[in-house]
Amino acid sequence: MADSGPNSQRIKVIVIGAGLGGCACAIALKHHGHDVIVYEKLRQFRRLGDSLGYGENALKLLERWGGPGLYKTLTSIGNQAPDMQIRRWHDGKILAQQPLMDMAGYIGHRGDYHEALLQAVRDAGIEIVMGREVVAFDEDKPSVTFADGTEELADLIVGADGIKSIARELVLGFADAPKSSGYSCYRAYFPGAFLKEDPLCREFVDHDCVNIWIGEDTHLVQNTLRNGDEFNWIVTRKLSAEKDMEIKESWFQEGNMDDVRALIRTLDPRIAAAVDKTPSCLDWKICYRDPLPYWVSRSHKIALLGDSCHPHLPTSAQGASQAAESAAVLSVCLKLAGKGNVPLATRCYEKLRFDRVRLSQTNGEDVRDRWHNALKEVDDGVEIDPDSVKIRNRWLYAYDAEANTMERWEEMSKKVAEELRTGEITPLCDVKPNKVERAAA
Ligand SMILES: Cc1cc2nc3c(=O)[nH]c(=O)nc-3n(C[C@H](O)[C@H](O)[C@H](O)COP(=O)(O)OP(=O)(O)OC[C@H]3O[C@@H](n4cnc5c(N)ncnc54)[C@H](O)[C@@H]3O)c2cc1C
Repeated sequence: MADSGPNSQRIKVIVIGAGLGGCACAIALKHHGHDVIVYEKLRQFRRLGDSLGYGENALKLLERWGGPGLYKTLTSIGNQAPDMQIRRWHDGKILAQQPLMDMAGYIGHRGDYHEALLQAVRDAGIEIVMGREVVAFDEDKPSVTFADGTEELADLIVGADGIKSIARELVLGFADAPKSSGYSCYRAYFPGAFLKEDPLCREFVDHDCVNIWIGEDTHLVQNTLRNGDEFNWIVTRKLSAEKDMEIKESWFQEGNMDDVRALIRTLDPRIAAAVDKTPSCLDWKICYRDPLPYWVSRSHKIALLGDSCHPHLPTSAQGASQAAESAAVLSVCLKLAGKGNVPLATRCYEKLRFDRVRLSQTNGEDVRDRWHNALKEVDDGVEIDPDSVKIRNRWLYAYDAEANTMERWEEMSKKVAEELRTGEITPLCDVKPNKVERAAA
């Protein structure tokens, strides 16, 4: 679809943030014939986070934009197990088994995926300027101002600046705060080779595998990477009302391993043995953000993408994949609208994306609730219907975000053109975000 047709005049786009969302956006924009530059506030990236899923809905787009080499790299990063098992908390009995491709897709290390996408951005000839923090916007020009006071103009600015986005503040007109989801994770990721020596847990380390133990108001996800050389576990549990008050949105807060050991006292001893030997972990309160009424500024020239406008719970396994879908829809809308019609493109983008993203977000809540309730009031001898605890992500994967945008463009662009003419932009939802005073944000 690149560089042909009546609307082929190149659109200049500034992408703020070189995370997985910003990288996918840059590659998609370039593929569709736009000019793009990425500004990233960090001076360099480290291999941060742990496991993350990439579904076929995203991989097929990334392959289209970055070629079969990128697809091969991304899929080889992922866990190679064909199936995953969902097990009973206290004894590990298998309650259900399903193909990994119907569940999270390829589960790999976030840092490895990130490195592959950063390379793909560079291979596409797109500049990523590191150590360049955006501190302010002029939404009408539109332009960004950097920490050193310099300014840069573009036709469109994309805020792919993550969960603590400043672009979101501009779009909303105020700062919004995270809410507690009522749940929290302890998570650990470490070289797992030494666990291969332990006869109790060896079976979960000596080859690529993914297992989930479900209990009452709690679950543990375990997966290996690099054929067992790296090991990841995440225990999610319901917070007490008192703990619930301490909302801190951070990927870096140290967890207390003694608290974890207390939590797994009743867990299947095989996986408990692996958790017990873990050197350290992170304590991650799972924050929830209300859906936003708009993803685009009043001037229609600053658009949000990825975690800045649609963060996902970990159980959805779709955060990075949905960011890639958003990149696809925005790029195609710009292509179809043309350089003189950026507002039409951005307003179509938010409307085309919102409903599907909400479904993907709430899917993650649904599976957590089914797992946490499945064993309540069920005796050991009673069989659980396997389908009742399976992850229901399969419907997400067949979707082609670009084809869907082209199919719906005519109808949507007519509707949006009318809204732009009257100046009455319909909000995406009527939820009021959790407004806070700036000083407390
Ligand atoms: C440290 C970290 C660890 C994570 N670990 C996991 C994990 O283990 N599992 C999982 O499922 N998900 C994880 N995630 C979330 C996952 O990466 C995202 O859901 C997904 O990649 C989409 O993210 P994004 O690109 O929209 O935002 P992010 O990945 O947060 O990227 C935003 C980027 O914007 C940059 N930025 C922010 N503000 C500015 C500014 N003002 N100027 C310039 N640049 C700016 C940031 O430095 C960052 O590089 C993690 C995220 C982070 C940040």
